[in-house]
Order: sequence, then structure tokens, then C-alpha cells
Amino acid sequence: MATTIPAPTTLGASIRRDFPILQQENERGQRLSFLDSAASSQKPQVVIDAVSSYYAEENANIHRGVYTLSERATARYEEARQEVASFINAASPKECIFTRNTTEAINLVAQSWGRANVRNGDLIVITEMDHHSNIVPWQLLAEAVGAEIAAVGISDDGRLDLESLNRLLAREPKVVAFPHVSNALGTVNPAAEIIRRAKQAGATVLVDSAQGTPHLPVDVRALGADFLAFSGHKVLAPMGSGVLWGRLDLLQAMPPFLGGGGMIRKVEIGRSTWADVPARFEAGTPAVGDAVGLGAALRYLTRLDMAAVSAHEEALTRYALERLAELPGVTVFGPPAGEDHAGVISFTVEEIHPHDVASVLNGENVAVRAGHHCCQPLMARLGVVATTRASFSVYSDRDDVDRLAEAIMKAQRIFAA
Ligand code: PLP
Repeated sequence: MATTIPAPTTLGASIRRDFPILQQENERGQRLSFLDSAASSQKPQVVIDAVSSYYAEENANIHRGVYTLSERATARYEEARQEVASFINAASPKECIFTRNTTEAINLVAQSWGRANVRNGDLIVITEMDHHSNIVPWQLLAEAVGAEIAAVGISDDGRLDLESLNRLLAREPKVVAFPHVSNALGTVNPAAEIIRRAKQAGATVLVDSAQGTPHLPVDVRALGADFLAFSGHKVLAPMGSGVLWGRLDLLQAMPPFLGGGGMIRKVEIGRSTWADVPARFEAGTPAVGDAVGLGAALRYLTRLDMAAVSAHEEALTRYALERLAELPGVTVFGPPAGEDHAGVISFTVEEIHPHDVASVLNGENVAVRAGHHCCQPLMARLGVVATTRASFSVYSDRDDVDRLAEAIMKAQRIFAA
């Protein structure tokens, strides 16, 4: 039986009680405003408990044991896969491969599907707003097979330029890979429309949903893509858990990515044959405890309701954009408030380096990230080397936003002195 998850408290302020790490204060008695959830979210007690009771009561290596504990561990692992399938509305749990993270999931597609299908001279389309994880794996593939890479441009307000997409689609690319939501700008891309156009042009489509799955309801069948990747650690689950979803017919035709135990049907000294999916892509001992934690996190989010999560974060983002707009010298990147701006806000403060802003904020117990956010081509397009980024999750509230704005003002006072 899967662990029973108590109903979470409501979104925003009172939900903070579900997250033990948020109960801490700094030496000045200030609460922790954790505004770096786009990098990795915090974990509710139910997830910590699910992992802990897995190790306390059920831990064993899976699939190979004929003893009870191993069977129980296997059942927990496969229940977690079922949970993933339900969360993203996959047609079958077999379509859901456990990986370590989004990065591994995209590399799996680029190396396995890519090497089997992409040829010398083919075009691979990515975007100017991609995370390095959706750039470098395609570069490695392109170098290996002699393919070309081109990027869809963006507008000055941080939206994908769909005319530029159309121009690239006219060249009939083999692959289109794009971010569901930008980790540096918060832009929610029109995924269904991009997929529709890319499929019409004959491309195979991968959605990097590392920032989509934490913020939006995701329905892979409605989206119509071929592959979708996300990281467990950004959806309240343990680090080390990630997912590649792929269309079953595509996965079944793909060669393995990594070789070893668990992914074979038969091994002889000279050759081997492969297990069916998903085992074919899960070589070696998997991170069972992390998968169990991922299952618990997705049940928790399902109870919260992803539509409510999305609405909560959109309202909070709107409020944050209003607050930051009141601050002279603060420049916010990305689209204006609205449905296509998820809970990620990148900004610069005139005359203050983004790292110095983050450092003053840290002194106020407001945790944000500063840097290029693994988006160097995007930073180059925006004409900056770095930004400061505040990002939200289910536990973020207006108090966090107020504390962010006040801490920015404090940084401005310190650096004006
Ligand atoms: N893609 C996007 C849009 C991201 O934001 C991230 C992480 O921040 C990744 C990919 C890579 O995720 P991971 O480091 O979990 O592999």
C-alpha cells in the first residue's frame, strides 16, 4: 500500500507548516523567505516521512529479489511510477522512465533517440531562452553526427518569437526542443501551439518541463509532444529523482542509453539483448527511495490541485511585479504579469551587482539566486551577464514578496551610502 498522505493545508501562508525547513529563523529572529524554488524546492514533511519510512521498513534492491522485502520495495517503486503517470496523464506507466533529473532525461533522448535518428545535415531547433541542459546535450549530438543547431529567437519582453519559429520550421527540422517555462524569465511558452506547429513540420518534439511541471497542470496527452522531461527535486521531491516521459512507440524503438544490470534480456560475452521499456533505460540499481519520495510529492501536489497551485503562483507573481515596479532603479526581465508569467522573477538593480543584491537579501534571511541561471545565451540576448532571481513555490506568500522588496530597498540604501 502507498503511504497515506494527509491533506495539505491551504496554499500560501498556512502551508508553510508542512515544510519543516521553513520554520527556522536567522540569528535576528527573521523568518526564512525561501525564494529559490526554481533551483530546487523545499520538501514537505510527508515526503520526508515517505522516504524515511521506506528506508526504515521496506528498503531492499528491487526486481531481482525473491524475498518479501525486495517484493515490497519493488511494489513501492512501481507505485511511484504509476503516480508519475497519473500526474502527467501518461497513457501508461511504461512511458515514464526514472532518471536522476531533467539533464539526464534530455541526454537520454539526445544520445539514444538522437543517434539513431538524426543524420549529417539535419537541423535541431532549440531556443534562445533554453537552460544549458537543453542546449549542451543537443550540441554533443550535433557534433557526433554532423547536424546543425539553430535557436528560436525571443522578443524584448522575453517571449518566444513565433515568426522565428515558423522560419526554422520551414526548414523541416528533425527535432524541436524547447522549455515549457523559462527558468530565468518565468515565461510560460505556448507549448501546445509550438508542438502543433513542430509536429506539422515533421519534427520530433521534446519539452523541457523542469519549470513547467512544478508550476502548471501538465497533461502529456493533451500537449501532444513526443518527450517531456522534469526533475523531482523541483516538485517537492528528493534530489536524485527525475522523469523522462516518452511516447511508447518511440521508446520501444530506441536503443539503450546506459548499459549494465537491470536493462538486459540476455547477456552473452559477445552480445546482449535489451529488456522492454521502461527497464531498458534504467540501468543499474535505481534511486528507489527518491522515487518513493517523488510519488509522495506528486500525491501531495495532486491534493493541492495543480490548477490552484498555478493560480496561487500567478497571483503572487502579479503582486511581486507590482511591488518591484514601485522600486526606482529595478529592472525586471520577462513578460508583464499575466498567465504567461509563472513564479520566476529576474531583475537587476541599478549600480549594484546581482551577487551583491543576493548577499544583502541573504542578510535579511531572503534566499534568492544570482548569476546566469545556466542560461548564458539568454543573458547575452538580454545584454546582461547576470540577474538576481526570485522564484516561488506552493509555500511562497505575500509576506515573502514584501520582505524581498524591503530587502532590495535596504541594498539600495547600503550601496548609495
Ligand atoms: N531545464 C530547466 C528549464 C531548468 O530550470 C533546469 C534546472 O534549473 C534544468 C533544465 C536542469 O534541471 P536538473 O539540474 O534538475 O537536471
